Amino acid sequence: MSIHGPYDPDNIFAKILRGEMPCAKIYEDSHIISFMDAFPQSKGHCLVLPKAPSRNLLETAPKDIGRLFGTVQRHVIAVKKALKPDGVIVTQFNGEAAGQTVFHTHVHIIPRFDGAAMSKHTGGQVADINALEILAAKIRTAL
Ligand code: 5GP
Repeated sequence: MSIHGPYDPDNIFAKILRGEMPCAKIYEDSHIISFMDAFPQSKGHCLVLPKAPSRNLLETAPKDIGRLFGTVQRHVIAVKKALKPDGVIVTQFNGEAAGQTVFHTHVHIIPRFDGAAMSKHTGGQVADINALEILAAKIRTAL
């Protein structure tokens, strides 16, 4: 199983980027999009993606990396302001062997709250879209 491979233009995030699938969007500019994870590991779990097609960080153009992680930091700051977590996990998986399940580069932002359990990676339940839209709006306001 290789970490590399062809980019599948029908992966779920490519469909979201083309507007063919709904998402609870937080932020979008010409290079980046962010939205709530549909199967959140905790309240406020969101994803930040470069728009340019790449399977993982190894295949992301170096010029896109600074912008991506700068935007991730802005989101972490906004999540802290909006949701007041006790901690924030930032993760990013490269390759099936590492646990990656959607093969368009993305960074997870997972708020942690003292005393609140967190589900495992890809072990979350599908969230109510209206609840996700409310969280997205709170984070967007704090960006
Ligand atoms: P990965 O395993 O590739 O690091 O993460 C993929 C993430 O995408 C998982 O956390 C999963 O819950 C999330 N996800 C899977 N399908 C959808 C979807 O249709 N919409 C959204 N917003 N998130 C999704």
